[in-house]
Amino acid sequence: MNEYTYIKEQDDAIYQALMGEELREQRGIELIPSENYASKAVREANGSVFTNKYSEGYPGKRYYGGQQFTDVIETLAIERAKQLFKAKYANVQPLGGAAANVAMYFALMEPGDTVLGMDLSHGGHLTHGHPTTAINKVFNFVRYKMKDVDTGEIDYDHLRQMALEHKPKIILAGFSAYSRELDYAKFVEIAKEVGAYTVADIAHITGLIAGGVLKNPFDYGFDVMTMTTHKSLRGPRGGMIVVREDAELAKRIDKAVFPGMQGGPHMNVIAAKAVAFQEALHPNFKEYAVQILKNAKAMEAVFKKEGIRLLCGGTDNHLLLADVYGSLGITGKEAEMVLDEVGITLNKNMIADEPRTAMDPSGIRFGTPAMTTRGMKEAEATKLAELMIATMRAKDDAEAKIAIQKEVQALCEAFPVPERFV
Ligand SMILES: *Cc1c(COP(=O)(O)O)cnc(C)c1O
Repeated sequence: MNEYTYIKEQDDAIYQALMGEELREQRGIELIPSENYASKAVREANGSVFTNKYSEGYPGKRYYGGQQFTDVIETLAIERAKQLFKAKYANVQPLGGAAANVAMYFALMEPGDTVLGMDLSHGGHLTHGHPTTAINKVFNFVRYKMKDVDTGEIDYDHLRQMALEHKPKIILAGFSAYSRELDYAKFVEIAKEVGAYTVADIAHITGLIAGGVLKNPFDYGFDVMTMTTHKSLRGPRGGMIVVREDAELAKRIDKAVFPGMQGGPHMNVIAAKAVAFQEALHPNFKEYAVQILKNAKAMEAVFKKEGIRLLCGGTDNHLLLADVYGSLGITGKEAEMVLDEVGITLNKNMIADEPRTAMDPSGIRFGTPAMTTRGMKEAEATKLAELMIATMRAKDDAEAKIAIQKEVQALCEAFPVPERFV
């Protein structure tokens, strides 16, 4: 637990909310696959004096004086990022994953150009051209889908047809609700045929690629990767863009981030990114990444044994999507609420070809990065999956839910949120 000595003295309302969040995070099991716990070192950097500094520009080329220390941390962040992702260039300034994607689009395209990305209902992300986003007014988005939603195989023939028909500037791979590995070589082959850039938005699986347990798209010739630093990578909230080898592309990306889209970089966050990258370069981060996958597989086994339909037929990564409405007759929204009552946090999610609505869909999405950070292994993952299913089956049984909540509490107490990873 953190002390917050100064806030306690001067701002009670904020102090109360901070303490509430401290306890909520300790006392609940976090299964939202995009969330995690950052180390105390990362949070120290995030809360540091670098928040005071304006550093528009890049190391060695700034618009303000007094940059002897900001240049040190940004250069370290860049060098560590390059090492983690086998990239020749890195831009660590994007404020988040969405900002990274917008800058990448403007760097690689002219207004009116086309992006070929994953269908949003099949696991693509809002920032891949959802009708409600600003970017959808500037660029043209066309879609590919899965061939079979029960295996998760991408329809690469359809992808190729769409590429030949629409001549996209970018072919985008990457998802926020998809649980299989991709055939990156296939993406590159199709992109070469139509002269498109290949971009992987690895926002969710950043830590799994850095940890070497999922394929690195750069090994298959991808041009660019965009990502977040706060999901499986366990850093501060933020984004990043890395370029495999093209110096000219890297220059365009730097310009698109600043001055194209952002003002002064958040140097406190960049300091925290540098700290998180060093943690991710430590050998024990690989063990962490391996365990994330093992825990997801353990959960998969329980859901399968209980006959609950998993989208893509299971998982190769850190997350699972379950059709709980189809299998248990409970909607995604009801499941999210009843699981919250027993202390398990996850999110409702649309399933591919959703027969219900976005606000009350058929599915739930859950994942293992955060619980794995707490030190939980397969035995606990199995237990949690069993408790989840029991909760959904007992949604109207108050006594059963109290008993489950006690078991969840016991797990939380046995696995406190750690403060350091190296
Ligand atoms: C989370 C996510 C983003 C957006 O990241 P923010 O930091 O929330 O802006 C973009 N793309 C994908 C695939 C994501 O999962």
